[in-house]
Amino acid sequence: MATNRTFTMIKPDAVEKGHIGAILEKISSAGFKIAALKLTQMTKADAEAFYAIHSERPFFGELVEFMTRGPIVAAILEKENAVDDFRTLIGATNPAEAAEGTIRKLYAASIGENAVHGSDSDENAAIEGAFHFAGREQF
Ligand code: UDP
Repeated sequence: MATNRTFTMIKPDAVEKGHIGAILEKISSAGFKIAALKLTQMTKADAEAFYAIHSERPFFGELVEFMTRGPIVAAILEKENAVDDFRTLIGATNPAEAAEGTIRKLYAASIGENAVHGSDSDENAAIEGAFHFAGREQF
């Protein structure tokens, strides 16, 4: 059954460029309610665990390096059909292929440094949300 929550990170590239406010505004304007939110920095062990599914991929080392080089904004978002609607809002993994007006089209530089994360399933949204937030931090 579809749940109404997804998990996102504003990645280090977008934080460095000062896009936190603009991205949160896009998220709110699209009808997502913020259920949890924080500025944090992932350790190498955090990033390796979070992206464990990609551990055999050639870009894994670069991805871990990138995701740990500075702070991120982690958030749990609530909306009907949250996972799919948020994937639509952020656009394709590669910003060159992302639709006009999507967050990645607007703010991402490359397939690696692509500004935002969005969970790809309800199951992963729950796992990823719990990875970053204790129960008492979720509203
Ligand atoms: N990534 C990368 N090179 C690639 C594909 C992905 O560096 O060729 C990075 C990128 O930051 C992406 C993340 O790995 O967001 C996870 O990849 P996935 O295929 O799960 O894309 P997403 O679900 O984030 O769109």
